[in-house]
Amino acid sequence: MTVVTRFAPSPTGFLHIGGARTALFSYLYAKRHGGRFLLRIEDTDRERSTQEAVDAIFEGMAWLGLKSDVEPIYQTQRFDRYREVIAQMLAAGTAYRCYCSKEELEQMRNEQIARKEKPRYDGRWRPEPGKRLPPVPEGVQPVVRFRNPADGQVVIPDLIKGEIVFDNAELDDLIIARADGTPTYNFCVVVDDWDMGITHVIRGDDHVNNTPRQINILKALGATPPQYAHVSMILGADGTKLSKRHGALGVMEYRAMGFLPEAMLNYLVRLGWSHGDQELFTRQEMIEKFDFDHVSASPARFDMEKAYWVNHQYLKTAPLDVVVPEFDWHLRRMGLDPAQGPRLEDVILAQRERCRTLLEMAEKSHFFYADLTGYNEKDAAKHLTADAAELLEALASVLAGLPAWTAEALHAAVNGFAESRGLGLGKVAQPIRVAVAGMAVSPPIDQTLALLGRTRTLARLTAAVEHVHGKSRANS
Ligand code: GLU
Repeated sequence: MTVVTRFAPSPTGFLHIGGARTALFSYLYAKRHGGRFLLRIEDTDRERSTQEAVDAIFEGMAWLGLKSDVEPIYQTQRFDRYREVIAQMLAAGTAYRCYCSKEELEQMRNEQIARKEKPRYDGRWRPEPGKRLPPVPEGVQPVVRFRNPADGQVVIPDLIKGEIVFDNAELDDLIIARADGTPTYNFCVVVDDWDMGITHVIRGDDHVNNTPRQINILKALGATPPQYAHVSMILGADGTKLSKRHGALGVMEYRAMGFLPEAMLNYLVRLGWSHGDQELFTRQEMIEKFDFDHVSASPARFDMEKAYWVNHQYLKTAPLDVVVPEFDWHLRRMGLDPAQGPRLEDVILAQRERCRTLLEMAEKSHFFYADLTGYNEKDAAKHLTADAAELLEALASVLAGLPAWTAEALHAAVNGFAESRGLGLGKVAQPIRVAVAGMAVSPPIDQTLALLGRTRTLARLTAAVEHVHGKSRANS
C-alpha cells in the first residue's frame, strides 16, 4: 500500500504555525513511507475563503519546502463530483431528503430542550421499513441527510490518541447537501479523501468529532476509511491557548523575523514529536525518523526562546548556499543592494556566531552595504572623544599605507598601532567600530575592516574625526 497523506487548509488566513506543523507531519509521514503528500484547498466556504489566503498558503508551503506531489485540488472545482455522489447515495438509500423547515427544526429543538434532552434531528424524514413518511410539502427545497447507522459504535484507532469510540446513537443524521444543493463540509472531505486515495488523515484534534461521521459516510460508500492521526493543539508557553502574543503567527512572519525555513521545520517537528533527546534534525533525518509512536497526545507548548535557539544553531552550521538567499532577501527588504558591499558568504561567516536571526544579521550588517546615516548616540558619546579622534586620524594614515587590505594585514596593523601607543586593543577597536559601523558592535575589527574595504574604511575614519572636530567647534 502506498501511503498518501494530505494537508487540507481552509483558505481563510495565513499559513500559521499550527497548520504548518500539521502539514509537516503529513509530509514527513508520506515521505518516510515512500508515499505521496497532497495539498487540497478547502474553499467551499466562499464567504470566508479568499485568493490572498490561497496565495499566502502556497507562499508559506513553498518557503518551508513542503511541496505537494501533484497539483493542488480545490474543492470549489469539484461540485459536479459531490452532486454525483449525493445522487448515488439517494439512489442507494444511504441518504434521504428531509423537508423540515427552519421553523420546524427550531420547534423540535425547543421541545427537546424543554424535555431536558440533547437537541438533535429526530429522524422524521428518515425512511425506515414500514414507516409512513410525512407528505412532501409544496414549495420546500429539501436538504439531503446522511442515514447514519442507528446503533453500534464507531471505533477510531487513532495513531496518536489510541482508540476513540463514539456511539452511533450520539450522531445525528448529518446534512450532506443544503437546500440550495451545495454540499456540506464533512461530506466534501469524505469524497475528496476517498477520490484522492488518502490512506492517512493527519489533522488537528479539533476535527475529532467529525471523524466518526466521516467514517460512517465512507463505509456507506463502500470505501475503506483511512487511518487517522489527530494532532494535539499547540499552547502558549504559559499553557493557555496559543495567541499572537505567544508566537501564533503566519509562517511568513517568521521569515520576516529572520528564521531559516529549515530551522522553522526543525522547531515545528519537535512541537509534539520527539526522538530520544535529539533536538536538531536535518530534513532527511526528520523523514527517516518521524513516526506517530512518539507524537505526544498532550498539547505541545510553544517556546519562542527555543525557536530562537534552534534558528541560531542552523545559522551557525547551515551550508552557506542555504543561508545566502535568505540573507539576500532580508538585505533587499531593508532597501539595501547586496551588490554594494562584501560577498554575502563572507559577511555571514563573520556574523553568524553573534546573530540568532537573519534579521539581526541584516541589521548588524547594514553598514557594509550603505553609507552611515549617523552614529549610535551612546556609543559615539563614549567612544568618539577628542582622544579617539587623534587615534583614528593617526591610524587612518597607517592603514592608508597598507600594501594589502587583508584581515591578516589589518590585524597586524591595528595591533601594532595599539601597542605603539601603549593601549589595549579595545581602546583602539571600539572607536574604530563606532567610526565604521556607527555602533560599538561588529565582528572582530580586522574582519570588519577587511570586509568593508579600504575606501569605505578610510572615508569613515576621516568622517568620524571630522564629526568629533565639528562637535568641539560647535561647543566652543
Ligand atoms: N480544512 C480543515 C481545516 O483547515 C482541515 C480538514 C481536514 O484536515 O480534514 O481545519
